[in-house]
Amino acid sequence: MNFEDYRGVWVFLEEKNGAVAPVSLELLGAGKQLADKRKTELAGVLIGENVGCLAQTAFEYGADKVYLYDDPIYRFYRTETYMQAMLACVEKHKPEILLYGATSTGKDLASAVATDLPTGLTADTTQLDVEEDTGLLLASRPAFGGNIMATILCKKYRPQMATVRPKVMKALLREEGASGVVVEESIPIREEDIRTKVLEIVRSTAKHVRIDEADIIVAGGKGLGGPAGFQVVHELAETLGAAVGASRDVVEAGWIGHHHQVGQTGVTVTPKIYFAIGISGAIQHIVGMQNSGLIIAINKDPAAPIFQACHYGIVGDAMTIVPMLTEAFKSVLE
Ligand code: FAD
Repeated sequence: MNFEDYRGVWVFLEEKNGAVAPVSLELLGAGKQLADKRKTELAGVLIGENVGCLAQTAFEYGADKVYLYDDPIYRFYRTETYMQAMLACVEKHKPEILLYGATSTGKDLASAVATDLPTGLTADTTQLDVEEDTGLLLASRPAFGGNIMATILCKKYRPQMATVRPKVMKALLREEGASGVVVEESIPIREEDIRTKVLEIVRSTAKHVRIDEADIIVAGGKGLGGPAGFQVVHELAETLGAAVGASRDVVEAGWIGHHHQVGQTGVTVTPKIYFAIGISGAIQHIVGMQNSGLIIAINKDPAAPIFQACHYGIVGDAMTIVPMLTEAFKSVLE
């Protein structure tokens, strides 16, 4: 494998509700830094039906170029079709680095592509850097249950691929009117050869808001005593239209599912408002929420470490304070 043939940093541009997914914009921000260090270009790969207009968004967030696969066959995400497009693009244009959001689509596509290409994939990274002279990608992620940060290298193969957690990287400020090059691509692919058929899309009717996308998170900890006590968190969240977060101890106790866990071994969140209720403020929790816009802590122990990490703190019994807050918010919001 001749490394000289592989140039450029690429981002898989995921489409979500007719727009470029936030994680892809974040990756363009991270990719730009890598591309600048390597003095190379930043490109996006856009696959879908009638998605050409989204290339402009990519340019405004840092891309120099967009490889576009626009065809009705890509209307819905399917591993087979998207994988074939991505493989063809990689084989033809040979990127040095290829990044995907660690979303369900990004993870699925990246792992499928990695099985076909003679290269590896670092999953769920939270830090990226590149060696300026060698082009070696330094992809770091928590390992061994979050006890260490492992930096994973792909020394012998190209492209170097990684999935990156949403909300960890920063998107660039939008530069309105920025322009770039659209490279229209197509591959011979026929619907009758694709094994997967999308018959119907059924939108989830669940009212629960995802924590990685929420503007407001109400998170509860072991201090709430049990699943019954944790109910005050659900009630406040519902009143505010917020997502429910939790500490690891709460998840391990089975009061709520793992995808609600905030922290080093859970989800990293950056909502506008974060309520930490009955949460002590262990470092493993703090690293997952410290970049929230406004942190409000409620804890009965005035010496709890969470008070070092919050903007506003209320010392007292959550079982009294939280229902009062819920009633107060209800009276102004309803
Ligand atoms: P506790 O530490 O038990 O704190 C409960 C708090 O509630 C106390 O501060 C107490 O004063 C307060 N309280 C009690 N009663 C009340 C009341 N009535 N009203 C108000 N306050 C009250 N943790 C995470 O959260 N996320 C992670 O991703 C994570 N990853 C980890 C990875 C590793 C490798 C390790 C070793 C640990 C990890 N942890 C993680 C665990 C972390 O170290 C803490 O154990 C955990 O966050 C504590 O959860 P807690 O704050 O809910 O419980």
